[in-house]
Amino acid sequence: MRPKREFALICSMLVCIPLTSCLATAETIDTIRRPDTGRKNNFYVGNREPLLHSPLIKLPIGSIEPQGWLRKQLELQADGFFGHLTELSRFLVKENNPWLSPEGEGEKFWEEVPYWLKGYGDLAYVLGDQKMLDEAKEWINGVIASQREDGWFGPRANISSPRRHSPGKPDLWPNMVMLNALQSYYEYSGDERVIRLMTKYFDWELRVPEEDFLLPFWQQQRGGDNVASVYWLYNRTGDKKLLELATKIHRNTANWTDGIPNWHNVNIAQALRGPATYYLQSRDLQHLTAPERNYQTVWGLYGQVPGGMFGGDEDCRAGFYSARQAVETCGIVEMMHSCEAILKISGDLKWADRCEDVAFNSLPATTTADFKALRYLTAPNQIISDRKNKHPGISNKGAKFLMNPHGHRCCQLNMGHGWPYYAEHLWMATPDNGLALMFYSASKVTAKVGDGTEVTIKESTHYPFDENIVLSVSLPHSLKFPLYLRIPGWCDKARLAINGQRVKVQAEPQSYLRIDRQWKNGDSVKLELPMQVRVRTWVMNGKSISIDRGPLTYSLKLSETYVPVNGTVLEFLPRSWYREDMSKELIAAWPAWEIFPTTPWNYGLVLDKKRLEASFEITKNSWPVDHMPWKNTETPIEIKAKGRRIPGWQKDELDLVGLLSESPVKSNEPIEEVTLIPMGCARLRISAFPVIDNGPDGHPWKTPPEPALSNKPGVPKVNPGQRRQSGGGH
Ligand SMILES: [Zn+2]
Repeated sequence: MRPKREFALICSMLVCIPLTSCLATAETIDTIRRPDTGRKNNFYVGNREPLLHSPLIKLPIGSIEPQGWLRKQLELQADGFFGHLTELSRFLVKENNPWLSPEGEGEKFWEEVPYWLKGYGDLAYVLGDQKMLDEAKEWINGVIASQREDGWFGPRANISSPRRHSPGKPDLWPNMVMLNALQSYYEYSGDERVIRLMTKYFDWELRVPEEDFLLPFWQQQRGGDNVASVYWLYNRTGDKKLLELATKIHRNTANWTDGIPNWHNVNIAQALRGPATYYLQSRDLQHLTAPERNYQTVWGLYGQVPGGMFGGDEDCRAGFYSARQAVETCGIVEMMHSCEAILKISGDLKWADRCEDVAFNSLPATTTADFKALRYLTAPNQIISDRKNKHPGISNKGAKFLMNPHGHRCCQLNMGHGWPYYAEHLWMATPDNGLALMFYSASKVTAKVGDGTEVTIKESTHYPFDENIVLSVSLPHSLKFPLYLRIPGWCDKARLAINGQRVKVQAEPQSYLRIDRQWKNGDSVKLELPMQVRVRTWVMNGKSISIDRGPLTYSLKLSETYVPVNGTVLEFLPRSWYREDMSKELIAAWPAWEIFPTTPWNYGLVLDKKRLEASFEITKNSWPVDHMPWKNTETPIEIKAKGRRIPGWQKDELDLVGLLSESPVKSNEPIEEVTLIPMGCARLRISAFPVIDNGPDGHPWKTPPEPALSNKPGVPKVNPGQRRQSGGGH
């Protein structure tokens, strides 16, 4: 199918506004829908023809120095369980490890080492931590040394897989993940061995007989990531055979273009980006639009909840779509990776909004605030995070809510790329040799712009807790280049000042403010993104409501008590997961934690229907001295609201929060002031609230029946009309 020209025209259309020319000669400030892809950036590797140019180009690792809370979060990750996994995880024992063996022989051959190295390497490169750099290099060297003459690399067990679906045939999935680790290492180091390894390996992939290629299960679902790595190499070598390989991979990958072939939460989050990646080559609009269609399908059914994710647990199950359903930590970081990938391909800013929604409202709550432990599953409404089995209310059996640094295998090892990848995408290059500020965070970027001169821009902000972003430009000489500022979808009154002088702009939500001017050393830009309190209604989830302000969604502040599960923590794990040689001291130093609420959680909110804004009062607190805003105490911002307790809303026999009655509901309990804190700060949370109304519209609380258990995951039988009315997510 040929590309549809109309779409390209719409995408490249400048939406408005020739505004100012008062501050400097030849200054223009426009509001546009996406950067023009009619030309190519001169300094950074974008797509090579015949691949479509991308509107946004990732800067090499090292160009961006994250600062503020984001840097602190990365440091906590390095100091926390993730940075200590070589001591805690059996999969990272070096002895007899096939990823370190030149012959690829050894025990732990599957996805675990690649998962870990993908995040660990990038964390090392972003932080510039020498000890971590050395550790990552040792594993990278092992992988490179394992390549055979025919091109295969890594454990030999994967070339003749023992796995159920593809016995004796190649399982490329672990290598797909390792390719990501190798690409980042190359971007950081320029080590040409990576280019040689990938060239030989892709030659090998091209020779695999079609009938043996990408057999079920995981590799077939996630082949889109292999395509992305093939394009990464093609952009650097121009070897046309790689385009043939990309087509072969796409042809044999599960079909995520025409619908949802599988309802596993991580597959959905990860495969979202697959068709859009192949669009670069196919130019077929159905590949570009598939992610949005899949998003609407999945989030329409299971994502009618705050936090940016959906009720997947392990696999989405018909009827299980309430706010107490959870999602894997893997699903959360893969969703962010997908948003970043689709954003680079499409330039469509709704993917930036979605990325922030997940990064701020879901990801921080997957770990303890000190990053010393993680849980497998996190939900928008989650009142107890303990070791007890929650099945069948949750699809997984076992201690999936327990904050456990030793457990949760895939999430434990795979979650590491979430924050580093985010930090690597704060700023991006644009085709017109400019810079785009995509995700607001305190940071410093150094990049080539204009005629190739390096500019350094320092960004100061406490965003998303703060509405103000201040940029300071450092240049060796005056230079003309465009600077793009992203206007989030929730912001309709952005304000701009350049060198202290207010500039009138009419920046629409989900547009770019493009400032093209002659920049001078010491120039400053101030962007204000006013945040309003907004209420979202989740029609499909009992007409419950969520409170948003800017990109943050708010949760009831609960007092969280942490109870260590010290010493017995290993009882909750399969023996093959934990290190048997861990000392008692090491186990004692890394306890698992149960979290229980010590304050009531069963509140509905009382709204002033006539003056909604009068229902909420914003309190800005001082910035935490430890730069850790994602704790449930000392939050930089709080919202005071009014609520009444609902006696009929109780936990169920599994200690899951009870299902929501249809709002509005009556309550005769006294009105109380309740405090709301950002969802990402709350490990225990109520963020989809019942609405209280003691007038004629309210009805008594009535807990709905539990959904019927079905072995069939996927599309529930719901009234399509009901779905259409559902409250919109981001
Ligand atoms: Zn996982």
